[in-house]
Amino acid sequence: MKEGIHPKYQKARVTCVCGETFETGSTKKELRVEICSKCHPFYTGSQRVVETGGRADKFRKKYGLK
Ligand SMILES: [Zn+2]
Repeated sequence: MKEGIHPKYQKARVTCVCGETFETGSTKKELRVEICSKCHPFYTGSQRVVETGGRADKFRKKYGLK
């Protein structure tokens, strides 16, 4: 692997709206997400998305759910 092809690819601090933070690789230093593995119903298996109100609709549209 040649170095320097992706010089800006680095560890990024991701902050979720639920307050969870974790690190990932990105060209950006900081990222903000609305859903993370902690609050994503797909991962948690809970219905927590219901509590978020309007965000749930946005989420459903995004993932094509009804
Ligand atoms: Zn979250």
